[in-house]
Amino acid sequence: MTYDTNNIFAKILRGEIPCNKVHEDEYCIAFHDITPAAPVHVLVIPKGQYTSFHDFTAQAPAGMIQGFFASVRAVAMKLGVDQNGYRLVSNHGADASQSVPHFHVHILAGRSLGALLP
Ligand code: 5GP
Repeated sequence: MTYDTNNIFAKILRGEIPCNKVHEDEYCIAFHDITPAAPVHVLVIPKGQYTSFHDFTAQAPAGMIQGFFASVRAVAMKLGVDQNGYRLVSNHGADASQSVPHFHVHILAGRSLGALLP
């Protein structure tokens, strides 16, 4: 899939539209999801043009992949959800209902999340 530079997360990365940011470092920014599915619902997105997990893990330099996932862990710590637990979700493609074509990891937490799928 060709990267769409006008997707909503690309615009957030460029600062063209606002977000409720919780973390930023050299690898990523993290911000609250606009339609939270749990009491804690934060999106972590890499600073780079990657369409999904599948693309990111194939195309990004090893240091970027390592740094990004370390940042996801740091965001979970910052949110204070590591003790009670959290779920990571990353949708790739149509069958997963990916709606924004910029790689992102959902951090979901704040209550018992139950079964993996409804
Ligand atoms: P996906 O369905 O691609 O895995 O997840 C995309 C997520 O982005 C959805 O949970 C949706 O609520 C969130 N989202 C879509 N547009 C915006 C936006 O403009 N700002 C924020 N903060 N989240 C958004």
